[in-house]
Amino acid sequence: MATEPTSPDTAPAAAPALPNKLFIDGEWREAAGGRTFAVLDPYTRETFAEVAAGGKEDAQAAIAAAAKAFEEWAATPPEAKRRLFQRAADVVDRRRKETAAALVAETGCSAGFAEHMQDGVQVNLHHAAAWAYEPRGQVLQSNYANTYSTAVRRPLGVVASITPWNGGSILPWRSVLSPLAAGNTVVVKPSEESPVTAGLLVASALEEAGFPAGVVNVVPHAPGEAGPIADAFYESDAVRCINFIGSVPTGRMLAERAGRTLKRSVMELGGFNQLLVLDDADVGYAAVMGSLSAFFHQGQVCLNVRKALVARPLYDAFVEALVAHAKTLPTGDPRDPATIVGPLINERALEMAQQRVQEAVDKGARVLTGGGHDGLVMEPTVLVDVPDDATIAYEETFAPLLVVRAVDDDEEALRIANGTGYGLTGAVVSGDRYRGFEVAQRMQAGSVHVNTSTLNDELHAPIGGVRDSGWGRSGPQSIDDFSDVIWLTVEGGRRPIW
Ligand code: ADP
Repeated sequence: MATEPTSPDTAPAAAPALPNKLFIDGEWREAAGGRTFAVLDPYTRETFAEVAAGGKEDAQAAIAAAAKAFEEWAATPPEAKRRLFQRAADVVDRRRKETAAALVAETGCSAGFAEHMQDGVQVNLHHAAAWAYEPRGQVLQSNYANTYSTAVRRPLGVVASITPWNGGSILPWRSVLSPLAAGNTVVVKPSEESPVTAGLLVASALEEAGFPAGVVNVVPHAPGEAGPIADAFYESDAVRCINFIGSVPTGRMLAERAGRTLKRSVMELGGFNQLLVLDDADVGYAAVMGSLSAFFHQGQVCLNVRKALVARPLYDAFVEALVAHAKTLPTGDPRDPATIVGPLINERALEMAQQRVQEAVDKGARVLTGGGHDGLVMEPTVLVDVPDDATIAYEETFAPLLVVRAVDDDEEALRIANGTGYGLTGAVVSGDRYRGFEVAQRMQAGSVHVNTSTLNDELHAPIGGVRDSGWGRSGPQSIDDFSDVIWLTVEGGRRPIW
């Protein structure tokens, strides 16, 4: 008997067709060493995928393929590039349900966040298509009448993109699209936590869209084995840029190596983001915004708020409203569309969060709500009276934790907010938008938002850090990160040298 076709709206998301091999020179390959590794679902703790475990030899093969493909890709006309990016956007759209299901299963993000990311990736692909036609230089003035003087942007060569697990599909796609749009070819080393969604699914969508062999290559690896792949990147002359999105300690180490090997590096690192609630703020609005900004994606986005600095007259009301809101957030299975707070990525993350909460409590902090966990799902947790020397008071912890502190005035709030050394993002809530703007301008962060969340994320905007949060920007500015400016002159007459 024929089965009735199910309506697309009611059909359960199909099991994702998971690419699980290395993608090198347009081919899906086993790892040279023949090994594989298991990637676990953070909620069920069952194997989500068994993935080829690449090593140095594989990375070298991927670099060679990218180097071979570079010249032709760099010279590909804009119309051909535009068509490829736009076709990739269609592929991403067609695969959205399967990819969203894979994101939930591999990274534990909520179903809503997974869907939202699919929209973001498509927007990014449309931007990349438009960038193909952007002018890539300037005609300069010259003091010599017959000299035609230009500054032109040239791609760098092979870009090695090291991607994180926590940005689902947005960050891996971004780390590929900006270098490609600037005319480079790419080798991706995805996070060992999410090799499928942070690399292999990107390659498979680009393959289906018709990108030429070697333009994008992906080399996943087993946990603890990033080192040899990074060695291949630094040892290769063809690799001209290390494009890293990840933690500050790893970024620091990679930037040092880039210094020694004189490779350009783009570092999009973490931070310690703070929300300033001024004494004229709408406290109910500020509390809900603080709660969502801290607990979204279980506090595992680099843009989450870590500390709220609240004007003393509003402090009690803010804390009360925040705790009440935190308690309403649905926690649990990320497959349930109602869930907002799902599992942390792994046991190590849970242990670190628990240990940092305990350290703060041992030093005198109070947990007003949360603190517990069910499996890897940690309750949204609000802490007050946290001493300055507790790690949670000044270091990013990827978990649903928010520290709240009262401040006497805007000056104290700014002194604390600017005192961490980091500078990724921040937010200010004020009833007077001009006052909010004045305070925002004095915050040392790569982005600051008045009366909206630190999670504010528009793909054409320049998101990135200052100070210890790194450098490099998303959006059209990223073309500058992945290209060199060349001064090119043509002399029409004869000119003496001096
Ligand atoms: P997290 O601890 O949140 O996973 P990391 O900065 O360790 O943050 O991870 C971000 C990316 O950096 C991942 O792709 C990871 O594999 C990679 N990474 C970690 N250690 C190294 C290393 N020694 N060399 C190169 N890449 C690394």
